Amino acid sequence: MRYQSTRDKTKRVSASGAILQGISSEGGLFVPEKLPELSVQRLEKMVGQDYIQRAQGILADFLSDFSQEEIARCLQNAYGSGSFSSAKIAPLSRLGQDAYLLELWHGPTCAFKDMALQLLPQLMAASVEKSGGKEEIVILVATSGDTGKAALEGFRDVPGIRIVVFYPEEGVSPLQKLQMATQEGENVFVAAIQGNFDDAQTGVKRLFTDREVLEKLQAKNQIFSSANSINWGRLLPQIVYYVSAYCDLVQEEQIALGDPVNICVPTGNFGNILAAYYAKRMGLPVQKLICASNRNNVLADFIATGAYDRNRPFYATTSPSMDILVSSNLERLLFDLMDEDDAKIHDLMRRLETEGRYIVSPQVLLRLQADFAGGFCDEAQTADAIRRIYDRYSYLCDPHTAVAVSVYEQYRAKSADDTKTILVSTASPFKFPHSVLSALGEDPAGLDEFQIAERLERISGRSMPKQLSDLREKPIRFTECFAKDQMDRALERIL
Ligand SMILES: *Cc1c(COP(=O)(O)O)cnc(C)c1O
Repeated sequence: MRYQSTRDKTKRVSASGAILQGISSEGGLFVPEKLPELSVQRLEKMVGQDYIQRAQGILADFLSDFSQEEIARCLQNAYGSGSFSSAKIAPLSRLGQDAYLLELWHGPTCAFKDMALQLLPQLMAASVEKSGGKEEIVILVATSGDTGKAALEGFRDVPGIRIVVFYPEEGVSPLQKLQMATQEGENVFVAAIQGNFDDAQTGVKRLFTDREVLEKLQAKNQIFSSANSINWGRLLPQIVYYVSAYCDLVQEEQIALGDPVNICVPTGNFGNILAAYYAKRMGLPVQKLICASNRNNVLADFIATGAYDRNRPFYATTSPSMDILVSSNLERLLFDLMDEDDAKIHDLMRRLETEGRYIVSPQVLLRLQADFAGGFCDEAQTADAIRRIYDRYSYLCDPHTAVAVSVYEQYRAKSADDTKTILVSTASPFKFPHSVLSALGEDPAGLDEFQIAERLERISGRSMPKQLSDLREKPIRFTECFAKDQMDRALERIL
């Protein structure tokens, strides 16, 4: 299978090429030329398989320049080496009559980014080998929290690759900071940047194109690459868990093979829900994709009106991984909805950059609404969902998951659609202990993150994941903080 760019279809690459390049040279995103098919017969076979076997079948269709052995090795390293605390990798938890939580946070960093970032480094290392490349790859990441730690864990000690993560000193939670500062591995480096996430992000973008930096890199036989969520190698692993969750529901006799389900996803950059859309397009029996936003409701507005408009206030919320006004992966959906009109996509994305907004035609809007329902909730509704789910089911959910729960409830009340629904749970509640404890009506003032977590353990009878509680004992390895215009110096020292 070949991949084409959303902004210029003449730009075609292999799967390993798409993974190594990350983004096409003119700024477009790589998408498969044709999606593989997932027939009911194939699904039936998968029902009896485990997560890695299911993944093998799906990945083989997309990664046609990888051998079955290479894919098996990548999957084994990502999901078979004990880094996930659940044998099912992505287990379902029942929530009442018709809803199921798909828990994507049993990986090493307790957030759903692990699902993709455990596999991407393996795919990248195999792609380098395939390309015959002799360069060492340097992954540069600017992070607002979850991505940086998940990338560090995924890339640590992967041969031929180094990773450098910059995080904003004022922009991450104490727990997230501790997760990164204690990172282990011989090929990792972490530094704080004075400023906010935008400063870190802008600085990293500048490094990617800084001539002087690039020359020095070349002299050392190193090249930059990126692990951000527009890389095809991050989307592909996410298709797997939707198919796998469906198979689990069949296996557990919650649905019959072929029955439709809805999928509700707490959304930021539109990567996770786009993977669900691809699974639907491949043939997975999915009826509605419910796109859940927090107070930054640019996507809910878009799905309702067809106008995407980032000219609006930005809110910092208790679900920070969804505080996004430009959802990069939406470009791939538009390409599909607009019959792969690359010139039109190029135009829309230029508008977004210059004017901060664009509008799609009524026909495209109808197509969008045929597959998607949108919704959002504010901070009070998020906290309310955490408390109600706890009261009713003794189940603790994190604020991102709570946004999905709240939007699902709104959708059900409005639509009377009682199709069984998979709600995507994207983080462990212990990763955001402060917000969760407050939502339950307790006052966390004066307590540190671990004391708060202990309170949560007592309330819920569940224990903090070991990956998080272990942080208390781990030595701090990285303490440096650089001014935002000193990032090139930092890099020079590191490499
Ligand atoms: C990244 C993230 C999201 C948003 O996922 P997208 O793919 O960007 O839509 C939601 N919840 C958590 C916990 C995340 O880390």
